[in-house]
Amino acid sequence: MSTKNRGIPIVVSAPSGCGKDTILAELFKINDNLAYSVSATTRAIREGEIDGVSYHFHTRESFEKMIADGEVLEYTEYCGNYYGTPKKAVLDMLDEGKDVILKIEVEGAMNIKKIFPECVMIFILPPSIGELDRRLRKRGTETEETISARIAQARNELLFADKFDFLVVNGDLAKAVSDVNTVILSEKMASQRNLQLLEEIKNS
Ligand code: 5GP
Repeated sequence: MSTKNRGIPIVVSAPSGCGKDTILAELFKINDNLAYSVSATTRAIREGEIDGVSYHFHTRESFEKMIADGEVLEYTEYCGNYYGTPKKAVLDMLDEGKDVILKIEVEGAMNIKKIFPECVMIFILPPSIGELDRRLRKRGTETEETISARIAQARNELLFADKFDFLVVNGDLAKAVSDVNTVILSEKMASQRNLQLLEEIKNS
């Protein structure tokens, strides 16, 4: 399609341990029209993370100033830390025609839907709760208590899954990546997103 449309906000949510980071890393290799919304957070930086790439790391004070100054599209408090989506970066990337991936939790996802009714919401599921439990244990970094807490949290997040537009089960990584990309590519062709192109063709 020749006309460059505004990009689509793509919300991706998943309980921890569902492999959403791996899916997204693979997705960026095969879809070159994607951009990533780097969130702001007050949580501590983890090993391997880079400030400005993984997250923009803030103090609570500077995060609260961003909220007061209207610089975040949405924000939430999750496990005692603030997480929020920077407004300007996302709007700029959408204006450039990029489809913007917002990797956020379910409450933020619902808020983004209100701001961008045209967004696409994808929820990544584990094949089963038993498999999620197995994957969390395999990481070898979690205590029994953390695993139970994450499973409880996952069950809670699953309660919101039917509010999303698409469900992708991450049983096989390659299939999950292809499924997410198929959703995005199909949405790009939705008639209501291409009315201008249609007019151009009708008038050509
Ligand atoms: P983590 O600390 O494991 O990186 O992220 C914790 C949770 O916060 C994840 O579910 C992640 O998707 C979510 N999250 C990250 N950035 C944002 C954001 O900007 N807004 C919201 N609402 N959630 C976010």
